[in-house]
Amino acid sequence: MSRIVTKDLLAQLSNAAGSPGAEGDIRTIVRQHVEGIAACSYDKMGSIICRRHGGKTGPKILLDGHMDEVAFIVRLITKEGFIKFHNLGGWWGHTMLAQRVVIKTMNGDVPGIIGAKPVHHLGADERKKVQEIKEMFIDVGAKDRQEAMDVFGVAPGDRIIPHTEFLEMKNPRVVSGKAFDDRVGVALFVEALNALADEELPNVLYGVGTVQEEVGTRGAKTAVEMVDPDVAIILEGSPADDTPGFVREESQGQLRHGPQIRIFDPTMIPNRKLIQFVSDTAKSCEIPHQVAVRTSGGTDGRSVHVHKAGIPTIVIAPPVRYIHGHVSLLHLDDYEHTLRLLIELVRRLDETTARMFVDYAH
Ligand SMILES: [Zn+2]
Repeated sequence: MSRIVTKDLLAQLSNAAGSPGAEGDIRTIVRQHVEGIAACSYDKMGSIICRRHGGKTGPKILLDGHMDEVAFIVRLITKEGFIKFHNLGGWWGHTMLAQRVVIKTMNGDVPGIIGAKPVHHLGADERKKVQEIKEMFIDVGAKDRQEAMDVFGVAPGDRIIPHTEFLEMKNPRVVSGKAFDDRVGVALFVEALNALADEELPNVLYGVGTVQEEVGTRGAKTAVEMVDPDVAIILEGSPADDTPGFVREESQGQLRHGPQIRIFDPTMIPNRKLIQFVSDTAKSCEIPHQVAVRTSGGTDGRSVHVHKAGIPTIVIAPPVRYIHGHVSLLHLDDYEHTLRLLIELVRRLDETTARMFVDYAH
């Protein structure tokens, strides 16, 4: 039995800071939660590789969740004490203005607010435009550069993350927080390792927390070298498309409709037999799921599936609203259905099945 309380794990992971290249706090949380059930090692970029105890034979199965979150980095501090910054990962100006952030400095956390010219001072045309990040600044309340740097400790290169507390919504099955992309994926592999800890499995199971996904799936490229898996499952918090403004009949990521099985995005076309295996498993276990064909975006799958001679790889993701912003929204039903599907898949991934995925001779 798993000793983990999902909501506590999600809260802990969501509240922690893990900008691309600075995922240490997430790494620590992962390590704590797999202690005694998996052996941890690291690639030279900082990805954590948790190899499940027990299970010495069979195909190597990689469960991947990226530890980093979209964030910012301090570029320079103006004479007047404002912070100019650059984005780490994809942000949109509309979601950024007037939001609180935390600057992680050598001297500790410094709170700030993303500012820009106020609406009163904008011309009619300017008001219609999305503000560009390079025109924005962070206000830390400093009187000048000297105070911002010497007293507050802000320096170029410091990481900046959204200031957001994990929140249970009125319906306690709905939760909100930052970085559900992809702390949801991290939580999923951590929980799967725990849930399967005492089982005999027909495979060797790895949970891997990768670094620097949001800046180009860099950690996955090196982590996959370490594991050299036979099958990979990428776990994500994937964008929902069920809010006003979408055509409901075209929606492929509705909350409460279960995990998305991604069968296409511009960075990966999954192995067809693996897609079939995943959807057959979902059907036979009566797990609700939805199919996603994405015309944009990408995941760690991009780096993983072209490793060596190729790795059968699939992306499974509960839909999450408002990712790549300060707050995201997740329904725990979707999370739990994803976890159940993941566990059922791992139980079934034996030597014959793994070999069948790559049998192109028949
Ligand atoms: Zn992601």
